[in-house]
Amino acid sequence: MTQWQPDSWRKLPIQQQPTYQDKLKLQDAEQRLAKYPPLVFAAEARDLYRQLGDVAEGKGFLLQGGDCAESFDEFNAPKIRDTFKVILQMAIVLTFAGRCPVTKVARMAGQYAKPRSSDMETLEGVSLPSYRGDIINNFEFTDAARQPDPQRMIEAYHRSAATLNLLRAFAQGGLADLHQVNRWNMAFVENNPLKERYQDVAQRIQDALSFMEVVGINSANNSALHETTLFTSHEALLLNYEQALTRNDTLTGKWYNCSAHMLWIGERTRQLDHAHVEFFRGIHNPIGVKIGPGMQEDELIRLIDALNPNNEAGRLTLITRMGADNLADKLPKLLRRVKQEGRKVVWSSDPMHGNTVKASSGYKTRNFDAILREIQQFFQAHQSESTHAGGIHLEMTGQHVTECTGGAYKISESDLAECYQTQCDPRLNADQVLELAFLVADHLRK
Ligand code: PEP
Ligand code: MN
Repeated sequence: MTQWQPDSWRKLPIQQQPTYQDKLKLQDAEQRLAKYPPLVFAAEARDLYRQLGDVAEGKGFLLQGGDCAESFDEFNAPKIRDTFKVILQMAIVLTFAGRCPVTKVARMAGQYAKPRSSDMETLEGVSLPSYRGDIINNFEFTDAARQPDPQRMIEAYHRSAATLNLLRAFAQGGLADLHQVNRWNMAFVENNPLKERYQDVAQRIQDALSFMEVVGINSANNSALHETTLFTSHEALLLNYEQALTRNDTLTGKWYNCSAHMLWIGERTRQLDHAHVEFFRGIHNPIGVKIGPGMQEDELIRLIDALNPNNEAGRLTLITRMGADNLADKLPKLLRRVKQEGRKVVWSSDPMHGNTVKASSGYKTRNFDAILREIQQFFQAHQSESTHAGGIHLEMTGQHVTECTGGAYKISESDLAECYQTQCDPRLNADQVLELAFLVADHLRK
């Protein structure tokens, strides 16, 4: 293997990239970004690495979630706040039920690049380049909007910085107070049509917090109750951007991609001899890779060894997205083989991407029951293979969108038009995602 450099990926084949027309403008944007301050600090990435090491060893749970694609237009404080709140609400339920620490990783502050099933999109006889995420081009269906523009990388950087700044402020500034978070959960349960099913857990959390208050453990004297840590992550798809934010850490002399704490490789760009695997093998962040139903056991071992050659716990998270109908057939043999070979990984379930369907109305959607079924089967597979179901990875928002069908409010296909906002994949809304947390809690308690 040749010497790794932040740009050694450039010599290899690469999938899912835009074709920039103006190479000088591209170079200029890359050079400017390379001089900008990093968005995260390497020591924070190491902290997440350690936490994920515990998850790999069965001593924790990973909750990862956020938009399929963040959008430049929907860049505002209420949106960031609502997703932050709902991640915290889920985490308190999962922590209580699982009796184990929950590591929270947002798909935020940089989730701007998207792989697409086709390079071109055709509408009413007109073909234009596909929308590839706001860091690359504009969603609007016009020729000008769909041209990739390197300046968008700079805009994505600034939006990521502002998002991260607000997340840090919320995490440290009082919005993460556990008493407050559970009050939101009590309100959620109170208003939910399936109230009886969920109120027990929320009430027991409330009792535990009240007990602590009585014995003198309260937010004022305990930062664990008052503050939290929320890490950031995104799919590191656009390597021009990712390379520009990759920095040599002065404390350790190692390379870190400082665009987020954790990065992952998508299902469509994880070819062993291609650019993304090359780029990822040299950065020292905790990383993830998406694993679809086509993955074979031997190929998986090779991929693990390319990305985590020293077999360190916490380095690699395998995010499986099999589809509810495939999981029972596809996942157990992978779990068995990885265990047999002694490879240390976090297993996380993405129950979204294998369960996307087209509604009769034309909307891309996902059904709550299929999502839940994939998670349930994920837990069952781990139970029968005696491996650790380490986490979940969701596409979700704190807002009240109607993009996925089902859930306690019984969103139907005909309801989808009401508030369908995603520019990419359908997300669980605030009610659906909390409901899911309460249902997953049942599994963690077993
Ligand atoms: C995604 O996470 O939005 C995505 C494109 O997933 P996958 O790579 O699993 O298809
Ligand atoms: Mn998606």
